[in-house]
Amino acid sequence: MTQPLRNAAIVAHVDHGKTTLVDALLRVSGAFHAKQAVAERAMDNMDLERERGITILAKATAIEHRDHRINLVDTPGHADFGGEVERSLSLIDGILLLVDAAEGVLPQTRFVLSKALARRLPCVLVINKIDRKDARAAEVLDEVYDLFIDLGAEDDALEFPVFFTDARKGLCRTSPDGEDSDLAPLLDTLLEHFPAPEDDPAGPLQFHVTSLDHCEYLGRLSVGRVRSGRLAVGDPIVRLGREGQTGPVRIAALQRYSALKRTSIEEASAGDIVIVTGFDEVEIGDTLASPDDPQELPRLHVDEPTIAALFRVNDSPFSGRDDSRVTSRELKARLENELLKDVSLRVEATETADAFSVSGRGELHLGILIERMRREGYELCIGRPEVLTKEDENGKLLEPFETVLIDVPEDLVGTVTGGLGPRKGQLIGMTGAGSGRTRLEFEIPSRGLIGYRDEFLTATRGEGILNRLYAGHRPWAGDIPQRKSGALVADRPGKATTYAIEALQERGKLFVRPGDEVYEGMIVGENAREDDLDVNITKEKKLTNMRSSTKDATTTLSASHGIELEPALAWIKNDELVEVSPSSLRLRKRFLKMADRPKRKKKVTT
Ligand code: GDP
Repeated sequence: MTQPLRNAAIVAHVDHGKTTLVDALLRVSGAFHAKQAVAERAMDNMDLERERGITILAKATAIEHRDHRINLVDTPGHADFGGEVERSLSLIDGILLLVDAAEGVLPQTRFVLSKALARRLPCVLVINKIDRKDARAAEVLDEVYDLFIDLGAEDDALEFPVFFTDARKGLCRTSPDGEDSDLAPLLDTLLEHFPAPEDDPAGPLQFHVTSLDHCEYLGRLSVGRVRSGRLAVGDPIVRLGREGQTGPVRIAALQRYSALKRTSIEEASAGDIVIVTGFDEVEIGDTLASPDDPQELPRLHVDEPTIAALFRVNDSPFSGRDDSRVTSRELKARLENELLKDVSLRVEATETADAFSVSGRGELHLGILIERMRREGYELCIGRPEVLTKEDENGKLLEPFETVLIDVPEDLVGTVTGGLGPRKGQLIGMTGAGSGRTRLEFEIPSRGLIGYRDEFLTATRGEGILNRLYAGHRPWAGDIPQRKSGALVADRPGKATTYAIEALQERGKLFVRPGDEVYEGMIVGENAREDDLDVNITKEKKLTNMRSSTKDATTTLSASHGIELEPALAWIKNDELVEVSPSSLRLRKRFLKMADRPKRKKKVTT
């Protein structure tokens, strides 16, 4: 007999204790043996996720309890990964919503929750970290009810079970002042409150491919839910894809999630979330079916990309210095590989073989891909991100708009509205006045948000939270002021000198430090004026100069600063690129040679 199942997703803002809770639940279920380090983390986040405060990729685990197995899928916490959220939710029948007892519901959670409610998924709420000194569990519970109502939840959706937990100690209670117990009652409730899968094991095989993975030994792995029928290693299957049917091939291997690993299994049946090996050419959204009765499942809906940027081979003189992957073949293969896993992404060829137009759900989506590629040892140049416009039936130009939800300390409301005004943001709602923190809701063209995230984090001293949801394409909002200033461009290769930097500081803000290597056409700073200025940043002090060398060595650079990816992408103009390599980020002119650049200003010597 097959083991009874539940399929659930865990929805939480990063740092609210998801990993800790899953660890604790696995311990209750006996998944950890004495020798296994309890510190081992089930849904450990990638470094990048931690840095950016969001979960990017959905992962999964499984918890055994009272002879049942609960497949627990992680959900990404950001609207830029809308496609991923939809797919995670398509796998499951209930959500475990986890909220920090002090921080309460943060706007990021709102997006996933709105999608879950739209699917009428039952919810179990866990308010975690009740041991925190600043915990305000009862208030947070009210906030969750308010949020559900705000999101248009039906009355019955409000009747969710609530647990208050200290995930670190593995304790829970059912009221803020109730008795503590271990986490078994929480697991019991997941079994009671979430429905068992109703997929029919006697039907024809239908397996919905929801995400893809790769394994060195097995090759391409299709992760998804068996929607109907059964499948076993060695069975023939066909693939129903965008271009029709392929196969049959035999199932080479089957796996399922179990605690911290995947385990090989011989067969699986309807309702289970499993990993199938067989087809290498599979795409997300495909159906794997029986050759005798192939029936396709509806393809998964994925939000359209809103923003595109040029990814091209790095042809700067420093290309290849990091011993990195630099060829157009490598770049193409890497992007194609990403397409297999990320359905919200599009990659299109351009007129030249060494450049691709890559579109995604926002600059963060593209930024994270670039950052991942860089960490994997790729090197490339990126152009300025542009929004993807459309025309309506009357030929009117439409651009993507977003709803932006902002949560800031009260005294920063003016700063935020002041910052979003020129970007064509319209304030459409404000709540929480008098409570210390204010929630603001804006509607704004995606174009106006390019580069805003960084400005926002600085302006709110890191205390603000910003979440954005695609709101649809709407009529073009008109001019949004872009960077007016020109660039300071190196006119020759060499090393930046303190002497030259000091002399150029009055002309604008510099991006290089003494000793940094530069090449002709590299942008070394921002000109205070509108034109670009070619400068010699490598100029040495003349011997006749009377200043002492000690003074030179201790000169401090007020304006020099490092460059970060997303602000750099927002800063560049159309004739400029960001050069990304594993060890560095540089800005450059598209045309490096002075003579190739049309509108340059006369050369200036320091
Ligand atoms: P995740 O990002 O949601 O996976 O969060 P983690 O599980 O990594 O937890 C984030 C931080 O909160 C860690 O330092 C945990 O030790 C801490 N934490 C988790 N649960 C609790 C809890 O119940 N009480 C307290 N005080 N801290 C907790």
